[in-house]
Amino acid sequence: MKVHGTCHCSAIAYEAVVDPARAVVCHCADCQVLSGAPFRASAPAKAEDFKLLRGVPTVYVKTAESGNPRAQGFCGACGSALYSADAPDAKVYNLRIGAMAERDALPPRRAIWCGSALDWTRDLLDLPDIQKQ
Ligand SMILES: [Zn+2]
Ligand SMILES: [Zn+2]
Repeated sequence: MKVHGTCHCSAIAYEAVVDPARAVVCHCADCQVLSGAPFRASAPAKAEDFKLLRGVPTVYVKTAESGNPRAQGFCGACGSALYSADAPDAKVYNLRIGAMAERDALPPRRAIWCGSALDWTRDLLDLPDIQKQ
């Protein structure tokens, strides 16, 4: 599936082809801290299918639980999270669904790292719905 990503300030734009069947939400503690959100949604694109159209992401390299370095690409101006990838040579970009124009069409198929999921995320659908603030 072709997707179009843009950071919040529009300095960075990309297009990519992702596999919708592999869209996930991740409840790992690193995703919680790095995104500032209770969990994060991603879909993978092969490196050859990820094309930067504008701008250059800032990269923070974290050490994964496996001990491997993982590059976290984000906009250095507005902070929008864009991807994670193997470092230094990316074979796959796990693209952050929230920065894609097509985000509503990419429902996650699995939840991973559920051992660190915040208990209250299980109850989000039970909250009262308010259309705006
Ligand atoms: Zn930006
Ligand atoms: Zn994660």
